[in-house]
Amino acid sequence: MRYIASLSVLLLVVLSSPAARCASPRRARVVIGRQEVTLSPRPVVEGDVVYAPVELLKRMGADYAAGESSVSVALAEGSALLDIAWHEGAPMIRVDEAAKALEVDYNWDSSTSTVRLLSKLVAVEFDNGALTAKLTLPVTVSSARLWPKPWRISIDLAGAKVATDAWAYSVSGSDVSRIRLGQFNDDTARIVLDLGRKSGYQVITKGPSREIKVSVGSQTGSGRAPGTAAQPEPAPPVNITAVAVEPADDSKVGVRISASAGPTFKAFMVGRPPRVVVDVQNATLAMPADDIPVEHSLLRGIRTGEQNGALRIVFDLTRYVDFSASADGNDILLSIGLPSGAGGRLSDKTIVIDPGHGGDDPGARAGGVKEKNLNLAIAFKLREALEETGAKVVLVRDGDRYVDLYDRPAVADGNGAQFFISIHCNALVPEAMSGITTYYHPGQPSSRALALSIHNRLIEETGMVDHGARLDTVLYRSGLAVLRSASVPAILVECGFIDCTRDREKLCSDVYRAKLARAIVDGLREYTEGGMAAEAN
Ligand SMILES: [Zn+2]
Repeated sequence: MRYIASLSVLLLVVLSSPAARCASPRRARVVIGRQEVTLSPRPVVEGDVVYAPVELLKRMGADYAAGESSVSVALAEGSALLDIAWHEGAPMIRVDEAAKALEVDYNWDSSTSTVRLLSKLVAVEFDNGALTAKLTLPVTVSSARLWPKPWRISIDLAGAKVATDAWAYSVSGSDVSRIRLGQFNDDTARIVLDLGRKSGYQVITKGPSREIKVSVGSQTGSGRAPGTAAQPEPAPPVNITAVAVEPADDSKVGVRISASAGPTFKAFMVGRPPRVVVDVQNATLAMPADDIPVEHSLLRGIRTGEQNGALRIVFDLTRYVDFSASADGNDILLSIGLPSGAGGRLSDKTIVIDPGHGGDDPGARAGGVKEKNLNLAIAFKLREALEETGAKVVLVRDGDRYVDLYDRPAVADGNGAQFFISIHCNALVPEAMSGITTYYHPGQPSSRALALSIHNRLIEETGMVDHGARLDTVLYRSGLAVLRSASVPAILVECGFIDCTRDREKLCSDVYRAKLARAIVDGLREYTEGGMAAEAN
């Protein structure tokens, strides 16, 4: 049996070999990370273009469906079509196109005829005592180490390139005070966790993964070991000895909250009316709240209270702001500033509206309705409402055609726009829900401010179910392409669920579309001009 089988394989190879007709093609090696991928037939080179069998996509961890002339590759958002070129009787794809679609680092060395594909480290998060690194190709931790003086943990990811905007940022409420990213060598990304003191750590993700988790042992309460149901240790008691408002200029103000010991805290912004909230665990205010002087155009006042055993300090704002928090020794530092594109009048601004999907990509479908058409109709309504205010509007598409995801936010740059608003409708087959969600991308505090200001108006105006202004990383590991690559404040609004009959009827109606448009205009105006915050309370 074995003899016959191998003979027939040989026969097939001989029959399908192109060698009889032309010189054998130039071959290429494809290396993912540090590992060469064996593919059959072997990848071929034409000019400087490398073609590999469609199966390469599987080795890259992608989901795909291959047709006669193209392969549809599932992406974080939607899908990409890659052309099939036939080589040696096998369907092949361009490796550079596959790398681009899957956001993988592509490197072609013609002298060794080798393509090297590296995973991109696209996001790093620290939450609940654990680091999560998000990557575009599965990787493993190649080394992790605790270093003294100053105490820090380094985590090396072989086969990865750093591809984030933020290379260092502060973390609060745990043993880790700062996260730094760097390219240790050509093909190794390094994450460094700066520690306030000596601390243990554990690499949770053992196998190759697109999501690497490392927990950092902590005594400060917020760092329980992941996977255990243990209650976090109580935070040590601290005294808040001072809250000092430190104006930088009219558009920026710092707040320093001084504590008697390293505090465990959370800080976040909420909307309607806009305010920054700081919860400090196990803390007591050492002076009356009335004694905190507030003098800045962005701040209306400071209140304190108790929330789930934490001391809550609320900073009431005069408008939506760009906000960040960090730990500085025993102090909590807040930085509050005018967000990007704010100031002046809405009538002076340029807004890019992106009606999602289009052309061959219909988006969600239900009840004979295609999302791409709803998005366009809502975008037209929004354009009309914005133009009435005097603002300038640019549509990414004004007809039924597809625009590449990365080309969409680029329209904002090309037109000197201040804002990017992507319009979509949701679907959740088989279980339809109702309501509105607004997404923004992490690390873009101005986008968060814009999302909050518009989302709250949307809920108020439409009375729809509120799914919140949320990070786009709750959807996909690297967020949404149109938001991630935007260079101006950018949000994506899911205006309702197309597969929910009630929502769909609304989405198809002029009245509802006008409400959406009015709410977005109001939210934009509140973000830009401020002044409306005081009226809501
Ligand atoms: Zn959509």
